[in-house]
Amino acid sequence: MLQDMATGRLENEFRNIAATGQDLILCFQHGQVLLRRDADDGLTLPTLAQMAAWQQPGQPRYLFRLQGESVFLWTEAAPAQPDHGFGYEDVRRLRQLQSKEVCFAVMTGWHLYNWYRTNRLCGCCGTATEHATGERMLRCPNCGNMIFPRISPAVIVAVTDGDRLLLSKYAGRAYTHYALLAGYTEIGETLEQTVHREVLEEVGLQVTNIRYYKSQPWGVDGNVLMGFFCDVQGSTAIQIDETELSMADWYDRHGLPAQDDGISLTREMIRVFSEGKEPKSGIPGV
Ligand SMILES: [Zn+2]
Repeated sequence: MLQDMATGRLENEFRNIAATGQDLILCFQHGQVLLRRDADDGLTLPTLAQMAAWQQPGQPRYLFRLQGESVFLWTEAAPAQPDHGFGYEDVRRLRQLQSKEVCFAVMTGWHLYNWYRTNRLCGCCGTATEHATGERMLRCPNCGNMIFPRISPAVIVAVTDGDRLLLSKYAGRAYTHYALLAGYTEIGETLEQTVHREVLEEVGLQVTNIRYYKSQPWGVDGNVLMGFFCDVQGSTAIQIDETELSMADWYDRHGLPAQDDGISLTREMIRVFSEGKEPKSGIPGV
């Protein structure tokens, strides 16, 4: 998956530090990120020194370290005419196995960018929020409201029937490849209940033997995805919710139409099932 890097890791501990010339910059505008697509199909983020040549840098905000490099969020208007091959690319379409580290930095920075951008005012009293200096938190100087980064839990569900796996396609979305079932956890609901509810809502099936597989921390909508396998129980007749899905059907373990792209939890789970390596024992009682 995207977060599985060959060396190093994301160091997301908060630091209250200023950017220097060779630090990397994430600059977003209108759902796009500023970067350069290199000849080998790799991706390169601009440094502060490069950004400063195009526009007054202001005070970029420290985000995290990745592979030993500090990454900062650009806080001024995005440069209108960057040069040296840099341009803007759609964050939602950015999936690049050759540059896993850059993609993961963009996805994680995008999550934080949206959190900062939507919490400039206190939700309780409307006062402009201030940045805490000791941790990643926004505080209202008027009423004391404390706002921490928000992560939305969601599930990815692989429903199996012996040697068959249920694959679907989303309705009305840019992503047109085969997918597993997915949905957000609602307030007051366990993850296991989310699995039961989403499967029933989207394809009209009952499931049992729910078993956790892995998680993916970089959803573009600020989510953490948790992957589960489960077995269909009772009828295997699919009734799709046409507002959510354009199709859903059973596919044999040995003839699955989707390959692992090395990036997403969905594709890894499909591969694991094709190899017969999915977890077999479930969470007791669910
Ligand atoms: Zn307030």
